[in-house]
Amino acid sequence: MERFLHGRTALVTGSTSGIGLAIARALAAAGARVAINGLGTAAQIDAALASVAAAGGEARHVDADLRDPGAIAAMMATVQDAGALDVLVNCAGIQHAAPLAEQPASRWDDILAINLSAAFHTMQQALPGMAARGYGRVVNIASVHGLVASRDKAPYVASKFGLVGLSKVAALEYAAAGSRDTGGVTVNCVCPGWVETPLIEPQIQAHRNGGDRDKGVRALLEEKQPSLRMSLPEDIAAMVVWLCRPEAHNLTGTALPMDGGWTAQ
Ligand code: NAD
Repeated sequence: MERFLHGRTALVTGSTSGIGLAIARALAAAGARVAINGLGTAAQIDAALASVAAAGGEARHVDADLRDPGAIAAMMATVQDAGALDVLVNCAGIQHAAPLAEQPASRWDDILAINLSAAFHTMQQALPGMAARGYGRVVNIASVHGLVASRDKAPYVASKFGLVGLSKVAALEYAAAGSRDTGGVTVNCVCPGWVETPLIEPQIQAHRNGGDRDKGVRALLEEKQPSLRMSLPEDIAAMVVWLCRPEAHNLTGTALPMDGGWTAQ
């Protein structure tokens, strides 16, 4: 792997597990110093740090419950005190599938706070410095559910549509920052369909209908994803790394589906 991010610093929220952890590893392999964030036991966080370091970079964990704007401000100060933040990936996210009438208000609040408001707070604190230095990449991990809806996911879909809109506004405001030589400042969303991570396990189990786990996976895919195969976290990570490349300087304000044809229908 070409280490084109050597000397750059990255923060990936929600990177103690799943897609975020794969992104942290891929950025480290591309040479970045990576700050990971996310919940977990000390052992889980240590294992995540070790795997990012093994991928080839310096890694640290920055603690913050992203429901708390004060904790986000402290996290951003810690990361930016240690050096300029060049790459910000907002990946933390939670889900709660239930009909609208049965969604607890507290779940709505948590999903909006983690999936959407946290990205507003991190971007607000990261983008001015990126613009001043002429290079910056914000990649927000939205979802196909930032582009189309599914039933039983009111707070999740609302948060992901919001994240796509927020990213487009930021892309416009920072489009002219920097130059082709410095790399510019871009803001994009990646919109995955089904990806094999712990987040979707409850939905796989709910689709088993008395069969095994494979039956649950098949049922989920047949419902929405024409490729009939899930993505791996590493597939999403490869797209994020590419968005950080210098030649991606003019790719901004987009919401890129990686969904096996889900949103082509
Ligand atoms: P995951 O459950 O494996 O990881 C979620 C991460 O978010 C974990 O590191 C967790 O600790 C962190 N997190 C949760 N609550 C937090 C909080 N309060 N404060 C700080 N961190 C918190 O899930 P994943 O599948 O890797 O999902 C990552 C992102 O990708 C999410 O935004 C999700 O919506 C999105 N996504 C996932 C899929 C999929 O099929 N797995 C599809 C589309 C989009």
